[in-house]
Amino acid sequence: MNDCIFCKIVSGEIPSNKVYEDDQCLAFYDLDPQAPTHFLVIPKAHIESARSINAGNCQIVGHCYAVIAQIAQDMGLESYRVVTNCGLQAGQSVFHLHFHVLAGRDMTWPPG
Ligand code: 5GP
Ligand code: ZN
Repeated sequence: MNDCIFCKIVSGEIPSNKVYEDDQCLAFYDLDPQAPTHFLVIPKAHIESARSINAGNCQIVGHCYAVIAQIAQDMGLESYRVVTNCGLQAGQSVFHLHFHVLAGRDMTWPPG
């Protein structure tokens, strides 16, 4: 997508602090961290939000979670939270599917 920030990060047009990359996904640190460790895992292909996951593209979701588990192990994260905001009211501000991975502090429940 031409005007998508995360597509521009995938293409390298916008720089990012990369954590991990393979042919299907990219992980990079969030610009505005909400925890001592806060990175995002995104599919390289543009998928607008969790609402747009379907039988034809859902393989990438499992792949992203496998990548998250591997990164967490490599970073020695004993506990972490994975968050996907879907839609404006839920707090989604970038409309390219992404998984927030937050760690390094106590988390509250229910989330705000
Ligand atoms: P959302 O609000 O859609 O759940 O999450 C979008 C996240 O992307 C936010 O946490 C925001 O800080 C992060 N973000 C927005 N623009 C950029 C950017 O250009 N670079 C990086 N690294 N993160 C960004
Ligand atoms: Zn995109």
